[in-house]
Amino acid sequence: MNIAANTIPFVDLSSQNRLLDTEIHAAINRVLDQGDFVMGEAVRSFEIAFAQACGVKHGIGVACGTDAIALGLQAAGIKPGDEVILPANTFVATLIGVMRTGATPVLVDCDPNTALIDLNAAATAITQRTRAIVPVHLYGQMVSPSALLELASTYDIIIFEDAAQAHLAECEGYRAGSVGVAAAYSFYPSKNLGAFGDGGMLVTRNDDIAQAAQTLRNYGAPRKYYHTEVGTNSRLDTIQAAVLLTKLPYLDGWNGDRYRIAQQYDTLLQPLAEFGIRPIQNQNGQGHVYHLYVIEVGETCHIDRDVLQATLNDHNIQTGIHYPLPCHLQPAYATLGYKEGSFPHAERLCRNILSLPMYPGMSESQVQRVVETIQMISVDNPAASAHSLLTR
Ligand SMILES: *Cc1c(COP(=O)(O)O)cnc(C)c1O
Repeated sequence: MNIAANTIPFVDLSSQNRLLDTEIHAAINRVLDQGDFVMGEAVRSFEIAFAQACGVKHGIGVACGTDAIALGLQAAGIKPGDEVILPANTFVATLIGVMRTGATPVLVDCDPNTALIDLNAAATAITQRTRAIVPVHLYGQMVSPSALLELASTYDIIIFEDAAQAHLAECEGYRAGSVGVAAAYSFYPSKNLGAFGDGGMLVTRNDDIAQAAQTLRNYGAPRKYYHTEVGTNSRLDTIQAAVLLTKLPYLDGWNGDRYRIAQQYDTLLQPLAEFGIRPIQNQNGQGHVYHLYVIEVGETCHIDRDVLQATLNDHNIQTGIHYPLPCHLQPAYATLGYKEGSFPHAERLCRNILSLPMYPGMSESQVQRVVETIQMISVDNPAASAHSLLTR
């Protein structure tokens, strides 16, 4: 692929990596010198530091966010026969994590304005067998902790947060990861805190869940060669932990950058509301960490999302769709028995949403160019939009 010089990428981590180049190399070299590649010193240090940043007692480093969900739910006692509620519009890993426990996933629709799980729909879906809800702090915005806690206490279920997109997000005085009995984080490279490969963490204030997860990730052995659980091998690499530990002190600043960029988008996009283009609503205020900045190209807009995306691409502006197909319509999960129409809000968002470029270090003039181009395509010059889909 030819990348033009004026391209605005969807994500660009190069400035962040350049800034930390020396520090990160030194941290990696320390691991190479020590040779503690598995469960080394940096893993323990990062577990302690990240758990503290989340405001909870324990961090258990695992191989990826998906494992953090699967092993975390298992450590919290979720098992076959249980029902677990989760939103239909999430990255499929949430569903995979739930299903790996053997529990039955119960999907629910989302709030059309925030794209977060609709807790009224969740309440309606609760049965005798419901044991847990997995709220997803989607795009970096937390599901209301007070509303979650009220739901959980009313129906006596546990909350297990999918915080993979919400590193250090805050809402109502809670940090992401400190609301439920436990929470899953991912350090996939493009997340707000990203490794140089895969990585994940379970965070919890509960001693028993922490201990169970430590056992499960390490072949089910609380003591070497003595296996009390049917476990697995899922550990955070020491090299990745060293990278993450080096980056962690910068996370707050990067999140602040993301927030400022989002505010600039909000302001510049405001005049486009009457043309059917509006950002997904932020109800967290400054606690939103904007893993993604997502707009909806509404039905009143005279072009559709796919045309907007293709035309932006023609103008060297890269965008994403998170996600184009909801979990319940994925072929792999047809056996769950949902159909088109099961979750209308989630389905509509999948057709209409577009994630704009967003990364720490993105400049004001880049944000401006993105919005001006959207405006040109969708408002000023309707004819410009026709070309792209036809000529591809
Ligand atoms: C990234 C992500 C995950 C999975 O994390 P991996 O580290 O890729 O396994 C889970 N849930 C959500 C919402 C995510 O965005």
